[in-house]
Amino acid sequence: MPRQPFIAGNWKMNKTIGEGIALVEELKGMVAGIDDVDIAVCPTFVALAKVGDAIRGSNIMLGGQDTFWKESGAWTRQIAPGMLLDAGCRWVIIGHSETRGRFGTVEDELERVLSYFGEKDITVNMKAKAAFAAGLTPIIACGELLSERQAGRTDQVIAGQMKIDLDGFAKEDAMKIVLAYEPVWAISTGQVCDAEEADRVCGLIRAIVKDMYGADVAEAVRIQYGGSVKPDNAAELLGKPNIDGALVGGASLKANDFVGIINGARA
Ligand code: PEP
Repeated sequence: MPRQPFIAGNWKMNKTIGEGIALVEELKGMVAGIDDVDIAVCPTFVALAKVGDAIRGSNIMLGGQDTFWKESGAWTRQIAPGMLLDAGCRWVIIGHSETRGRFGTVEDELERVLSYFGEKDITVNMKAKAAFAAGLTPIIACGELLSERQAGRTDQVIAGQMKIDLDGFAKEDAMKIVLAYEPVWAISTGQVCDAEEADRVCGLIRAIVKDMYGADVAEAVRIQYGGSVKPDNAAELLGKPNIDGALVGGASLKANDFVGIINGARA
């Protein structure tokens, strides 16, 4: 069975509630009737419920940008998977390089040392399992730093992340997971990964899934590419055999750009 392309917009820390509603109101009209591409937006936590109301009944789905592995309790700041489901989410991004504290663009040494949120592969794995338990599907992101690529360690870094991130799922859950290959140096830099190379790494990820879960799961799992995807490079990337969609940051903030990428998946 061919894999349906999946384009997800990660709004990161952008858009007020009102701006988010305005964006999806514009998007709804532009993507109405598209049924050969799955489409999702991932607003900030505070905008989820209202944006969810605005897209109800449309072909745009809702996702969270992160979650926690506990169901409830004294965990200040955290959002449980069940809360995302309650707000209307079907998807949740887990292990984005910005929550892992791995940056391609931060120049400031202090900011690098602070490392922001310091996500670990083991917590990515725990969050993804908690997401399934609550009825969500995780989009698990992985990717190498520029220094790791320059040192020839890309494949090793990806394999190391995937083996822990994907450990121990039930086969029926593993089949539904969406993976996102996001080279950290390509995120928000305008420096997109060469399409052949992105396809090669996505193929490596698929081979790792095959080793861990078998050929049927590897064939079913969708692997997105993320990192400076724009309307003018989308069709080339999305035309590659191992790239089944895109996780889009900056270009998901403008309806025209996001729809240009969605159309790239249909070319
Ligand atoms: C991202 O952060 O997931 C991303 C791909 O960002 P951008 O599209 O802005 O590079």
